[in-house]
Amino acid sequence: MDANDVLALGLGVTPPWKLVGQRLDTSTQPNQLHIEIAAERGALFPCPVCGKASKAHDFAEFTWRHLNFFQHHCFITAKVPRTDCPEHGVLRINVPWAREGSRFTLLFEQVAMMLVREMPVLAAARIIGITDQRLWRIVEHYVGKAVQRLDLTRLKAISLDETAAKRGQTYVTVFIDLDAKNKPVVFVTPGRGKETVAQFEAFLAEHGGVPSRIVEVVCDMSGAFLAAVGATFAVTVDWFHVVQMFTKAVDDVRRAEAKQTKLPKALRWAILKRADGRLTNAQAEALAELETSGLLTAIAWRIKEMLRWIRKADGIQAARWRITHFLRHASQLLADEAILAPVRKALASFENHLERILQRWSSNHSNARLEGLNGLFQAARARARGYRNTTTFATMIYLLAAPLGDFFQSI
Ligand SMILES: [Zn+2]
Repeated sequence: MDANDVLALGLGVTPPWKLVGQRLDTSTQPNQLHIEIAAERGALFPCPVCGKASKAHDFAEFTWRHLNFFQHHCFITAKVPRTDCPEHGVLRINVPWAREGSRFTLLFEQVAMMLVREMPVLAAARIIGITDQRLWRIVEHYVGKAVQRLDLTRLKAISLDETAAKRGQTYVTVFIDLDAKNKPVVFVTPGRGKETVAQFEAFLAEHGGVPSRIVEVVCDMSGAFLAAVGATFAVTVDWFHVVQMFTKAVDDVRRAEAKQTKLPKALRWAILKRADGRLTNAQAEALAELETSGLLTAIAWRIKEMLRWIRKADGIQAARWRITHFLRHASQLLADEAILAPVRKALASFENHLERILQRWSSNHSNARLEGLNGLFQAARARARGYRNTTTFATMIYLLAAPLGDFFQSI
């Protein structure tokens, strides 16, 4: 085995292909190593459709980017034939070292995919020496193929949530399998609300899933979701979103009241924190001050805090009783002040969705999953930075959290 054979093996070059030449171009920076591959004279090639050994009709030269050879960029050039199959006509063949249509070798793409599993695409692109746009095209190809292979035949319970690729910009909606211990993402689609549910149903059907087998859907209370999901699936409103809705109402009240009265500075962050979150001393003081004050923000806050007590109910009957008490108590606390309108609105929405909210007490599925998604969304945003749009963002969510398996299994 000589040096050429070693290189040929690494490239996946198999007969009739062989390595016929190599040349280092030192006129460019970094230097370029050019490897030339050719087929043996008179060799037959498989028709790309039926595989029948056929004569070459004609040849055209192609170049692929290969893994760097030490510090040198490496390129492979070969004259690739078109076969003339009696049945399928004149067609360009696929070479064993690259996939159809790609200007990179399989080994190059394998290393690229390995890197983007570990670091932001921009950083991986710098290491392998191509632009991030070109690397994104590779990533989108392999992730797209893997997503096509997803098997949803056993999907029984899902939850969905939406998030923006960039602040205030276009949304993606993410569907997760509530029974998956890790890699729970099964579908990501641009957009939000109703149309995404229709897209999910189509995706589900293409991947062996059956809507009637989905026994539970956990989502927030946005009207569009419920209208769309409720028509097909049984819906549980997720508790995390209930808390979020009331937290926002308290903050809206605080904002409006701050225009009339001076409120402690630390109050804003104290009331935005999760109910069980840790508070700084200043925040704890601000809350203590709030509790003894006659502020309308204090009323909104007390109503929101009752959610904690409801959540601890240990069964659906107890929860129903606590909620009845909560609604009565909240309406007593709520004065007619216009500033409290956001809380009244949240309460109306809560009452409206009461049965779906109560489902969580008879559900087998943890609501913690949706809260965990926020961490995933943040990670995906960071990995896609520099070239972030709904497509790259969705691709990265799949890459980080969908059961995609081995990207190169079918090649
Ligand atoms: Zn053929």
